[in-house]
Amino acid sequence: MRTIDLRSDTVTQPAEAMRDAMLRAPVGDDVYGEDPTVNALQDRLAAELGFASALFVPTGTQSNLLALMSHCERGDEYIVGGDAHTYKFEGGGAAVLGSIQPQPIPQAADGTLPLDKVEAAIKPVDPHFARTRLLALENTWHGRALPFEYLAQARELATRRGLGFHLDGARLYNAATAYGRPAREVTAGFDSVSVCLSKGLGAPVGSVLLGDSKLIDRARRWRKVTGGGWRQAGMLAAAAMHALDHHVARLAEDHARARRLADALSAIDGLTLQGCHTNMVFVDVPAPRLQDLAKHMATHGIRLSIGYLPSIRLVTHLDIDDEGVERTVDAFRSFRY
Ligand SMILES: *Cc1c(COP(=O)(O)O)cnc(C)c1O
Repeated sequence: MRTIDLRSDTVTQPAEAMRDAMLRAPVGDDVYGEDPTVNALQDRLAAELGFASALFVPTGTQSNLLALMSHCERGDEYIVGGDAHTYKFEGGGAAVLGSIQPQPIPQAADGTLPLDKVEAAIKPVDPHFARTRLLALENTWHGRALPFEYLAQARELATRRGLGFHLDGARLYNAATAYGRPAREVTAGFDSVSVCLSKGLGAPVGSVLLGDSKLIDRARRWRKVTGGGWRQAGMLAAAAMHALDHHVARLAEDHARARRLADALSAIDGLTLQGCHTNMVFVDVPAPRLQDLAKHMATHGIRLSIGYLPSIRLVTHLDIDDEGVERTVDAFRSFRY
């Protein structure tokens, strides 16, 4: 029985054609800036997303950390969602390694940081306070594409108050797909953007940080300091290039399958649909039935993210086809809630 792994869009296996591209990639020492495939990936994404410069790094966590450390210095502060990845799911790296104080703002249900709350959190210039330097957003957030017009409103506030403006765009292309807009319209206005290639785009490893050349020069230095100066990384960049060539347009299929899952699950007695956003579906069952449901799904070869968020999370991706969706729906239907 084939396992259907809906825990995350990070679990994809590199396609054969991707593996071939990796094997053939010309490579060099990226610490010297001499890996042609890494350079091509960086140049390509910078051009496509409207930035002067880009840096290929191992993970989204490192990419965000380098961005925060490049915008802020020791004793500075960044404003961030209380449920944002950089604040909550990255081990507190900005504080631990960057001596940067986070100022979390409770997010609205749509993932936005209410701008009046952001503005109220900006500290006066006074030795009592950390220096507020940066506003960081996340798009998509728990699958939600932020309201498109909010991006420009947040930009306006950042400009008016002299803050840098960072986007954790781990799933930038899912957001662009949801808006039906080119990705560069989603990144417009940000001073830095982090994009993951290893989520829905299906590369085995890698994220890219985008910004102006000064910011990226600082980020490159911090990448080295944090042990991320890698050598013949072109094999990984080749996988990323392949993902950009072949796996962007198809994200719409993941969103359609998530919608199909949500529609079918919402019709099952005992299951409560909490939401369906881009490639993510959230459902609840009565808490005492949760562990039995997990066992039931496991015997059907289905893996879900249970107990990590308040709801059960199902994430569609490259390796989930229509049959996988149907098998999942059948397994949910055959459980006694
Ligand atoms: C996955 C993710 C990251 C970090 O990516 P890693 O490569 O796992 O370190 C950052 N932000 C968001 C929103 C993510 O989903």
